[in-house]
Amino acid sequence: MKIQNSLINDEAFVCVQCNYCRVCPAYSVLKWESVSPRGRIYLLRGIIKGEIEPDSRAVEDFYKCTTCGACETVCQTSIPLVEVWEKARAEIVDAKKAPLPVHRKLREVAEKNGNPYGERRGERAKWARQYEFKDRADMIYFAGCTASYRMFELAKSTVEFLNKARVNYTYAKENEYCCGSPFLRTGQREIAYEFFRKNYGEWKKRGVKTIVTTCSGCYRTIAKDYPEIAEELGYEWNFKVIHTIHLIKDLFDSGKLQFERRNDRITFHDPCHLGRHMKVYDVPRDILKEMGYEIVEMEHTREESLCCGAGGGVKSQFKDLAMSIGKRRIEEAKETGAEMIVSACPFCKLHLSHAGNEEIGVVDVIELVNEWAKPLNTDKSKDGEQKAGGVEIGRNNRSEDIQIERRRSG
Ligand code: SF4
Ligand code: SF4
Repeated sequence: MKIQNSLINDEAFVCVQCNYCRVCPAYSVLKWESVSPRGRIYLLRGIIKGEIEPDSRAVEDFYKCTTCGACETVCQTSIPLVEVWEKARAEIVDAKKAPLPVHRKLREVAEKNGNPYGERRGERAKWARQYEFKDRADMIYFAGCTASYRMFELAKSTVEFLNKARVNYTYAKENEYCCGSPFLRTGQREIAYEFFRKNYGEWKKRGVKTIVTTCSGCYRTIAKDYPEIAEELGYEWNFKVIHTIHLIKDLFDSGKLQFERRNDRITFHDPCHLGRHMKVYDVPRDILKEMGYEIVEMEHTREESLCCGAGGGVKSQFKDLAMSIGKRRIEEAKETGAEMIVSACPFCKLHLSHAGNEEIGVVDVIELVNEWAKPLNTDKSKDGEQKAGGVEIGRNNRSEDIQIERRRSG
């Protein structure tokens, strides 16, 4: 096998083998050098030098990584490790040594149904049958596969909140396709490009300018991967992409949203795709504090947060590993004495709920906000559209929010 990618060829030799990256959740559970970030880099170097031809066991170990980014945060030589892992997986797929069997199956069902859960495409919006949606609007709600097929309560909470807030938005129903995240993370890029094309076409058709999603995985993919894919494929990219928490914060800061005060003791789990990948740590905490919640942090939090264990194709292909990592996170949460774990991603909620086995409740910020947001003091524009601070909702300066987050996170 030969590695063509120049980033991997360069970065593999930057590693000084210091092993600071032993924070890796997969390595912490399995304790094998071959699943440590340092071991993965060693493998890549061996392949580049022509000294190692990866066998099926080496490829499997390479995939025992949730792409959580904890290694990248601590790397002493600042290697963009997540990008290296993802690009290396794409090369392994090109060399026909992967996808692994379950990842291949996910792609096959997604090719047919537009989602990796193998559910019917026509039933993607089954959860939304009681709601009405506009055909066109500046903003579109992107529900994502997990909320559409597994975590309906999050999709319903989001829509109910948007309606309550009188946000002018549309929703593509069964014309929404998987964002492609599971395939970008597992090196199966072609199908992700196909979903990009379908979603892009739908957004253009509906006159969309802003995409809002409650899923951190979709948020990272559409905000960070889609502009790169657009450039690669020659598409113009001028969409603004926000997570629902940005919208909530915008409304609150401009005096358009109030909450019934709560006083529960909670702990916040940073989704890797919201925190380390997009550098958003304060926004969800600020919302929860404004609601009155007492936040008790876990041992690993913010940049050092422990992954839930599900990402990067690990939950589908290596269930035991995903569950062991998830249980570690649940133990950390229980040690805080919090009454519940709050997160901001349906996939984190799904997996932590499985790992927690009802020992501690897991809820999403949007569920709490939808339940406890007070009726709004609305300031409607001529077409009934809600405004926040004189700025149309969804045209908030998300990049400024992110810059603030970056400054705070150093
Ligand atoms: S991204 Fe996360 S799981 Fe993957 S090697 Fe780095 S620390 Fe380990
Ligand atoms: S922290 Fe970075 S430099 Fe050190 S072993 Fe890990 S990948 Fe290599």
